[in-house]
Amino acid sequence: MNAELQQFASDNYAGICPEAWAAMAKANHGHVPAYGEDGWTQAAADAFRTLFEKGDAEVFFAFNGTAANSLALASLCQSYHSVICSSSAHVETDECGAPEFFSNGSKLLIASSADGKLTPELVRTLAKSRSDIHFPKPRVVTITQATETGLVYSVDEIRKLSATCRELGLRLHMDGARFANACASLDCAPADITWKAGVDLLCFGGTKNGMAVGEAVIFFDPKLAEDFDYRCKQAGQLASKMRFLAAPWVGLLEGGTWLKNGAHANACAGRLAEAVADLPDFRLMFPVEANAVFLAAGEDRLQALRDRGWRFYTFIGGGARFMFAWDADPARVDALARDIRAVSAGPG
Ligand SMILES: *Cc1c(COP(=O)(O)O)cnc(C)c1O
Repeated sequence: MNAELQQFASDNYAGICPEAWAAMAKANHGHVPAYGEDGWTQAAADAFRTLFEKGDAEVFFAFNGTAANSLALASLCQSYHSVICSSSAHVETDECGAPEFFSNGSKLLIASSADGKLTPELVRTLAKSRSDIHFPKPRVVTITQATETGLVYSVDEIRKLSATCRELGLRLHMDGARFANACASLDCAPADITWKAGVDLLCFGGTKNGMAVGEAVIFFDPKLAEDFDYRCKQAGQLASKMRFLAAPWVGLLEGGTWLKNGAHANACAGRLAEAVADLPDFRLMFPVEANAVFLAAGEDRLQALRDRGWRFYTFIGGGARFMFAWDADPARVDALARDIRAVSAGPG
């Protein structure tokens, strides 16, 4: 089957990056113990502890982000608890109720957010909206880093959110499906936007960073990880040949490939945004801070782009979303920019 021309509809249209692939190949020798009792799983978990400068962090590997997020949130909640998230959060819009399912009913409380970010004010308002026995008790705040809208929370924003959480007795979870893009954007140490800023639990995305499958669930407080292994197993998330979920992480983490991949994707988003910034009829919907570009335009313009063969989704705010992956080809980015320009009425 021939590869198709590169599209930017989603960052998981991309394949596996060479470093992850090479590590998989290296792991594919002989027999090793199953269910995570192997050297690759140990090495990957250790690599995370080193990367996060947190020797006592507990690390688990799940097949995908929906499972990682849902089980992580479920581990922080009783069934009568609730989880505060933004209205565009993946846990709310794209996980088919899995967080509620795996937590046996913990309710998501949705903060209406124009740009996809939560703020201390939004959290406080929702957490304080009710305190009676008839309403599910707020227990966790979940933020997405980078957000579904392609924004990045600064270190300061996360610190302020976590201070609010602590004050209100809430835990802070981070959906890091695009954590690498956020770190590349902020040029900060992973610890700075996680446990050092008050994040309790991180789901670190491997799939969108260049793996075939796999997300890591990282508990910065080992006490919170109690029995999480049972939760994973019961949910069908314990890989028997775990070395193949773990090895690509070793490939990504050693030598900083994870960050290089994130930075490249971000640079391609910046490249597109810059190339079309002067067009009055394609308006940037959000600042470009990670690997996403959202362009609002009339439906006729969007259709003209589709007619030129470009694929994109419009489920966030009705504009065209373009997502860039670790292997985004700058020449294809330029081709997209040229086509946007061609279907546009031109500079204002
Ligand atoms: C892609 C993504 C996930 C993971 O989705 P799966 O399809 O379950 O792997 C989680 N959160 C966000 C914000 C995402 O974009």
